[in-house]
Amino acid sequence: MEYDTIVVGAGISGLLSALTLSKHGKKVLILEKDSIVGGQCNSYMVEGFQVDTGPHAITHLEVGPLKRLMDNYFDYVPVFENYGTYYSRTENDFRPVPSNLKEFIRFEPIPKKDRLIIAQGITKALTLSTFGINLSQQSVKSTLPENLSKTTKDFVNAICYFLSGKSMEYTSVHRILTGSAFVRDSITQEQFEANIGKIEGKQADTILQSVIPSKLHKPLSNKMSTFSVPLTSLGRLATNQSSSSQGYPRQGLKALLNSILQSLPNSVEIITNTEVKSFITEGKKVVGVKTDNEVYEAKTVIYTGFAKKLPTLYSKFPVSYIDKVNNIEQSKSLTIWLGLDSILDEFSYIGSEIWFKDFPYWAMPISNYDSSLAPKGKQLIGFAFIIDKNKDENEEIEKAYSTIFSAVPAVKNHIEMKHEQISVPEKGAVTINGTFADIRTPLENLYVAGTDADNRSMGITRAAYSVIELLKIAKEDGILNN
Ligand SMILES: Cc1cc2nc3c(=O)[nH]c(=O)nc-3n(C[C@H](O)[C@H](O)[C@H](O)COP(=O)(O)OP(=O)(O)OC[C@H]3O[C@@H](n4cnc5c(N)ncnc54)[C@H](O)[C@@H]3O)c2cc1C
Repeated sequence: MEYDTIVVGAGISGLLSALTLSKHGKKVLILEKDSIVGGQCNSYMVEGFQVDTGPHAITHLEVGPLKRLMDNYFDYVPVFENYGTYYSRTENDFRPVPSNLKEFIRFEPIPKKDRLIIAQGITKALTLSTFGINLSQQSVKSTLPENLSKTTKDFVNAICYFLSGKSMEYTSVHRILTGSAFVRDSITQEQFEANIGKIEGKQADTILQSVIPSKLHKPLSNKMSTFSVPLTSLGRLATNQSSSSQGYPRQGLKALLNSILQSLPNSVEIITNTEVKSFITEGKKVVGVKTDNEVYEAKTVIYTGFAKKLPTLYSKFPVSYIDKVNNIEQSKSLTIWLGLDSILDEFSYIGSEIWFKDFPYWAMPISNYDSSLAPKGKQLIGFAFIIDKNKDENEEIEKAYSTIFSAVPAVKNHIEMKHEQISVPEKGAVTINGTFADIRTPLENLYVAGTDADNRSMGITRAAYSVIELLKIAKEDGILNN
């Protein structure tokens, strides 16, 4: 056979799968249905502004799975700007989102009585989690009393939407604890080597290392070089300081994509504009894929598209498997990018803001990290909303604009560019009732990787987790070293 592995999809999960497997000596073909690679992880120009495919914070850069993959497989890594602070905005208030209980008790935008109730709830949940009680099936709503004020419910819902893409009714308590870094998600180099093995002689260069003064990145690079032990501790209640290091890639989200593309060896081939329509099988084994015009054969196939669509590519999956992938919950997001004709005082911070009233948004002024993302003297801000998939998109867009204008009235008179994106933010949403696909499938040698195949963390961090799990399974199945 010409290829060891075919990867279906050239989003971040497919590219990370191809990069890692090729560095283990595999000849890899990536087939992408779109005309460009990157999937949900890319940037492009709109009227002189460089927008990303949604606002992005790259999390767990200190000891998370992406860091592990960068250390072991990348030849080049992006420069990450320190993420900054999460703020909460209301009509007449703008302040940091509390990152520990002490700050939470003083968080005036929500009524004092509710703050005390929620503080007790967080303490109780963390105590249970510390003693090993599984809270992944317990909804946030079911743990809170009914009589909270609407403002408080809006606040809790906004945090839930941000962390899971769903309301508090469907978001698990576990997701809140991990997503707000009370319980840390991590994979240390020691854990990586125990599962996959030691990769010799790796030392990635930083893209732009020669042009960016290193002191600019000191705070984050200091954090990244400090070894930290995964932590699940009540002590965090008092000390938590948005502790999982987060960053924004200098030159935009595409810098992360480019660092993967530049690290790919020649043994990886990418073909775009090519949709995989079905799998070719021999007995219960996959041996290749079919597109409209071609057949490609390989010993293994890794699928990184929507797992829900797998049954359309192979009609003989067992019913129980079809039910499982059909049960994957998804949410729908709307991002509105606004290019402003000047730099507004209202957006003079580094980090992002959450508006939590009625129709919550999460906004990031990304040109504050890197002024080259907007024309000189101008500013670029992305506002992300979770929208109702059953409602008319145009009505949701209109509602989103009026929310932005009531939150920050000054914006309205400074808009030079507007651009809207609608997408499924991270494929499988982590909810109490949804399922995820396993990496192994009922078809031998067909694996699923990507954000539908792991429920840890979110987005790109989750994609990286799934690829580490894929490598571990490939090793167990004797694929990695053959
Ligand atoms: C608004 C928004 C905000 C986000 N914020 C963050 C954030 O702050 N932090 C974070 O880490 N993540 C964030 N994410 C999520 C993150 O971008 C995604 O989870 C991640 O990029 C998904 O990568 P993936 O490779 O699993 O999937 P995708 O990017 O969807 O890639 C799948 C690829 O497979 C291709 N494909 C599918 N089927 C086929 C087929 N049959 N044949 C050929 N090709 C096929 C698709 O065209 C696509 O290119 C955000 C996403 C959005 C939309």
